[in-house]
Amino acid sequence: MIHEHRHLVEHGAELVELRLDYIIGQISLKRLLVERPSPVIVTCRRPEDRGKWSGTEEARATLLRHSIALGVEYVDLEEDVAAQIPRFGSTKRIISFHDFGKTPDNLADIHRRLADLDADIVKMATMANSPHDNVRMLRLVRDADIPTIGMCMGEMGTCSRILVGKFGAPFTYATFHHERALAPGQLSYHDMKHNYRYDQIDRQTDVYGVIADPIGHSLSPIIHNACFEHFGMNRVYVPLRIPREELDQFMENANELGILGISVTIPHKEAVIRKLNKVHGAVRSINAANTVVFNGKGAVGYNTDYHAAMQCIDVAMGIEATKQLLAGKTALVLGAGGVAKAIVFGLTRRGAEVTIANRSQERAEQLAADFDCQTISWARRHAVNADLIINATPVGMHPNVDETPYEKRYLRPGIVVFDTVYNPESTLLLKDAFQQNCKVVTGVEMFVRQAARQFQLFTGQEPPMELMRETLKRTTGAVKMQPKAEEDEG
Ligand code: NAP
Repeated sequence: MIHEHRHLVEHGAELVELRLDYIIGQISLKRLLVERPSPVIVTCRRPEDRGKWSGTEEARATLLRHSIALGVEYVDLEEDVAAQIPRFGSTKRIISFHDFGKTPDNLADIHRRLADLDADIVKMATMANSPHDNVRMLRLVRDADIPTIGMCMGEMGTCSRILVGKFGAPFTYATFHHERALAPGQLSYHDMKHNYRYDQIDRQTDVYGVIADPIGHSLSPIIHNACFEHFGMNRVYVPLRIPREELDQFMENANELGILGISVTIPHKEAVIRKLNKVHGAVRSINAANTVVFNGKGAVGYNTDYHAAMQCIDVAMGIEATKQLLAGKTALVLGAGGVAKAIVFGLTRRGAEVTIANRSQERAEQLAADFDCQTISWARRHAVNADLIINATPVGMHPNVDETPYEKRYLRPGIVVFDTVYNPESTLLLKDAFQQNCKVVTGVEMFVRQAARQFQLFTGQEPPMELMRETLKRTTGAVKMQPKAEEDEG
């Protein structure tokens, strides 16, 4: 613990929580505290609070009192013991409350009870069962008359751990390392400091985010935050897990959370349209928006996937955008989902002859009918003599990197092969295409271009494309190793 404490301080941590209940065996407070390299919070949780303390309650209280006598900067006391451990010296009292099942309706009452226990800081951590729980918690932090840290646990609560700084909390909690998450939805110190730049967040910080369900390891926060940092912008981009049925409530809450723009992904790309005041370009034709800007007058929708895919194709085919220069060219689109739809719309608009092959034929036919093009059964897809083959299915995506949606021997030299899958960048399909002397377009290029256009819509600035490419490539190597968190909050 001493070693890790030093390590964190060397990496910029200003305040470190020492979880005494994680120490196995004899606890030497003097060793831990005498030459401590930074201010500390001393916390010792019982099993009923999801801690690891196995000693008696009396021994725990003695440990906490002893820490206070040694002059620790903060001590964390649960509501039921706070009255028995009186204030002494300069140690500040964090009175804490945890609910691992829900975010209770009566947050304000609980806060009042905790504040009345001679609190310097109130800490509340509750499970988010709805994105709206974050809003209730952050409102409480904003309106509290004593310093308050209010966070929601769970994947749906992650954004509250970051945004609590905007709402006035004195600090937030993060874990020593991402493999040491003590609660679902908790972020590592490294992520909190270097990705979300928590130290820079204040009441003026503008908020952006990605809405999805599941949110998984969305790469958008890493890319957009790197760009905000590059320009020294007081903005933060957060992951927002929004279940399908919560979209309407989220759109109503966006303003209160300080959100000025969102990336929209599965399952909201279609549903979000009815919440928009205005749409641009291809959104109506594709019936999908992947970007929303809140411009003060309302919500405006865009589809940057469409723009990005068309730019990629234009560059690969060596043509200028927006001209009907694909006339006479044949394209085979694999897949009939959201991305396929945007691509089919763009290709037919550019005059290409498009054939769609999809695992479920019915969906292929529906898409073909919408845009007046052909279909071929999935089994016969290799029979199309295409100048351009586009994979708009997840086949080949991590972890199924040995799969390809198209057999190598049918790839003819000189054709363009575009794989929308971006993790890994070099899919089996693209490796095969490269070996067959095809021109290759990567999903990374599409991802970067769609994010770049979003950045431009969010900020009005030219996007730093090279930084975006580097950040994405670096991250797709790292995201595979994220662990599953235990259910506990420090
Ligand atoms: P979607 O709406 O869920 O559609 C998925 C499509 O893939 C459907 O046509 C589905 O066929 C087909 N499919 C799924 N699993 C398959 C399998 N094992 N074998 C054959 N076909 C299969 O998803 P989407 O939003 O269009 O996204 C599709 C892919 O695009 C994603 O997986 C992602 O890799 C890529 N993408 C890339 C970017 C980028 O910027 N590079 C952005 C977004 C998405 P059925 O109709 O039969 O289910």
